[in-house]
Order: sequence, then C-alpha cells, then structure tokens
Amino acid sequence: MKRIALVTGALGGIGTAICQALAGDGMTVVANCLPGDPGKDAWLAAQRAVGHDFGIVEGDVADDASAGAMASAVTARYGAVDVLVNNAGITRDRSLARMDPDAWHAVIATNLGSLYNVTRHLVPAMADRGWGRIVNIASVNGVRGQAGQTNYAAAKAGCLGFTKSLAQEVAPRGVTVNAVAPGYIATAMTAAMRTDVLQTLLDDVPVRRAGRPEDVAAAVAFLCSAAAGYITGSTLHVNGGLHMA
Ligand code: NAP
Repeated sequence: MKRIALVTGALGGIGTAICQALAGDGMTVVANCLPGDPGKDAWLAAQRAVGHDFGIVEGDVADDASAGAMASAVTARYGAVDVLVNNAGITRDRSLARMDPDAWHAVIATNLGSLYNVTRHLVPAMADRGWGRIVNIASVNGVRGQAGQTNYAAAKAGCLGFTKSLAQEVAPRGVTVNAVAPGYIATAMTAAMRTDVLQTLLDDVPVRRAGRPEDVAAAVAFLCSAAAGYITGSTLHVNGGLHMA
C-alpha cells in the first residue's frame, strides 16, 4: 500500500527535496503551494522531467480556513494522509525595535500557526488508522536564538514545544511527531540574506559548507520511515555542527 504524504511549502528549496526523497521511498506525494502560485505549473513540469509525478494542492497554511479546505481537498482527492511534513516557512528579519506588527504576525502565523491550522485536520485520521508520521521543520535559530529574528526564533522554538506535546498525545495511537532543525541551507531563504552576513555565519560551521536541501530531506525521510517508529518528540539537528544541542 502506497503511503500518502503531504508536504507544505513544497515548491521551495527544502520542500522540493523532501517531495523527491519521500517519492523515492515509494510514497504518493502531494505538494502544497500558496493559492495562485505563478510558479506551480513550471515546478510540476520540472519535476515530471526528472521522473516525479507529484499531486498538487493550493492552500495558505497561515490561514485557518484555507488550510482546513486544503486538508479536506487532499483527503478527498488522494485519500487519507499518512505522512505530513509541515515545511512552509518565511522570514521577515528586523531588530525587535524596528519590527512592525505585520512582520511579527506574518512570521508567527506562517511558521507556527500553520502547525495548528494544518495538523489538527489530519492527525485524527492517522490516529484512527493506527499509523502516521508528522515532521515539523524547525530551525537552528529556534534552538539557539538569532539577533534580528525574534519573530522567527520564537515561532521555531514554539514548533519544538508543539512537536513534543502532540507527540505525547498521539504516541499510543501509532503516530510519531518529530522536528528537523536545519542550520544554514542553500535555498531562496538564505539567498535573500546579505552575502557577508551569511559568509560570517558559515565560517562558524564545522563542516565548512552550507547545507544542501537534500541533507534536510534525508533526515525527514528517515523520520517518516517505518524504521523510525520508536522515535517521537525528538529534534534531529541538521546543521553541520553549527550548534550541538
Ligand atoms: P523557501 O525556498 O523560501 O521555501 C519556503 C516555501 O514555503 C516557499 O515555497 C513558499 O512559497 C512557501 N510558503 C510560504 N508561506 C506559505 C503559506 N502561507 N502557505 C503555503 N506555503 C507557503 O525556503 P526553504 O529554505 O526551503 O525553507 C523551508 C523550511 O525550512 C522553512 O520552514 C524554513 O523556515 C526552514 N528552514 C530553512 C533554513 C535555510 O537555511 N534555508 C534553515 C532553517 C530552517 P512562496 O515562495 O510562494 O512564498
């Protein structure tokens, strides 16, 4: 039986690698993107060109109603979701004194509110069927903090509390809930940073390079596998040794 996997924010750097890794493990993968994403068709075509026929579902994970509609649409179209990867995320970096309320609320809603908005619609069916895997993409900066990211670090730290609490709720029902905390990974998110700032951060990485999306995807795929059934409530750090928690 093919497992059904839903990956949010799937068209981004890490999301794409996660979709490919889960498909490589034999899952039917449904990719979420924002409503009206202009890059959707090109992304699907590019994935088809390398042998991946992904499903697609639109939905704004920061919006409760939109996320609920997305969860219903996935289930109606593809069947009950076995594997959920909450990957969608944004940054709006600023020192706290200069951070406007929009930057605070958007980052909290997208990176943390989304966990509530999406997961609660899908976890009951996983529990009813006695098997499920949920992986939440956190960040090294939710563990160690980062100047300029009070919003992002708070959301990602909240993600770890959410992960541990839900893990306790659903462990007896065969559903595991874990987090993966990437360090600095080469995607659009880090490309938006000032080069000199990024280089200073990378100079502190013992592995001496930025991470690749595939480094994160491999960790996610492991936590979604049958082999990881005894791992729940944990955080897997994929940061090249930048922070050894
Ligand atoms: P990315 O390339 O910017 O991808 C993020 C994806 O999320 C984009 O496709 C984006 O769509 C989508 N998204 C944003 N808001 C959304 C919403 N409300 N509903 C649905 N989708 C939404 O960034 P990435 O580096 O792959 O990041 C993936 C995850 O890893 C994020 O949670 C991020 O915080 C985390 N992370 C990344 C790094 C890193 O160094 N790159 C480090 C630690 C953690 P649009 O492009 O259309 O906005």
